[in-house]
Amino acid sequence: MERWQDKVAVVTGASCGIGAVTAAKLLQNGFSVVALARREERLLENQEALPENLRSRYHPKKCDVTDEKAVKKTFAWIEDRFGGADVLVNNAGVMTVGVDLSSPDNTDIMRNTIETNVMSVVYCVREAFNSMKKRNVDGHIVIINSELGHKVPMMTSGSMNIYPASKFAVTAMIETYRQEFANAGTKVKITSISPGGVETELVPNLGLYREAGLALLYPEDVTNAILYALGTPPHVQVHELIIKPMGAK
Ligand code: NDP
Repeated sequence: MERWQDKVAVVTGASCGIGAVTAAKLLQNGFSVVALARREERLLENQEALPENLRSRYHPKKCDVTDEKAVKKTFAWIEDRFGGADVLVNNAGVMTVGVDLSSPDNTDIMRNTIETNVMSVVYCVREAFNSMKKRNVDGHIVIINSELGHKVPMMTSGSMNIYPASKFAVTAMIETYRQEFANAGTKVKITSISPGGVETELVPNLGLYREAGLALLYPEDVTNAILYALGTPPHVQVHELIIKPMGAK
C-alpha cells in the first residue's frame, strides 16, 4: 500500500515548473492531487502526460490565487468533493528581474508580485488551515519560499524589484502561522522550502545561465525536499530547508 493513499494534496501553481513536477510526484506517492493554476489547458496537458494509472487521482482546477473569492470557492469545492485537503503545497509565484524598485511606473509589477506571492498565501493558507482545524486532521502546509526570502541578492544593474521583499514577508508569515497553529491546539505543520535558482519558466534568460555554466537546481530537487518534510513522523516538524545548487554561495 502506498504511503499516502487516501490523502488529498492541493498544489497551487501546478501548471508548470516546480508545481507540475510536485503534483506528479505526490500522485506517484499515493496522494490524490488537486492541481490549481490559471492555465487550465496546461493542467489538462499535464494530466494527459501522466501514466494512465495515476490520471484519475489528478484533479485539475482553474483558480487564480490572487482572487480571494475564487480561492474560498475552490477550497469549499475541495471539501465537498474530497472531504478537504491533508496537505497544501503553496507554490504559485511570480518574479521580476531588471526593473528597479525606484524606477517610475512600475506599481503594477509590484502590486501583482505582492498579490501573487504574499496575499495568495494569506488566502490559501487561511482556507486550508481552517478546514484542517475543523476536521481535526494533522495536516501539513508547505510553502515554496526562496533563498531570496532570507537575503537580498547583490546585483550590479537591474534589481529584482519587490520580489525579495515579498519572500521576506512570506518568511515572517510562516513563523507567525506556526505560532498560531500551535496556539490553536492543532498539530498542523508548516514548512518553508527555500530554493536557490531552479530551472523553470520563472527564470529569465535560462539559455544565458547555461552558457555561462551557472548552476541551477531542477524542479525535482525541490520536490524531493517537499517529500522529505512530508515524510517526517508526527513529532518532527521541519521548519525551513534552504537548498542551493552545488557551488552557490
Ligand atoms: P513557474 O513560472 O514555472 O511556475 C509558476 C506557477 O505559478 C505556474 O504554475 C503559474 O500558473 C502559477 N501562478 C502564477 N500566478 C498565479 C496566479 N495568479 N494564480 C494561480 N497560479 C499562478 O515558476 P517556478 O516553478 O520556478 O516557481 C514556483 C515557486 O518557486 C514560486 O513561488 C517561486 O517564487 C519559487 N521559487 C522559484 C525559484 C526559481 O529559481 N525558479 C527559486 C526560488 C523560489 P499559471 O500561470 O497557469 O496560473
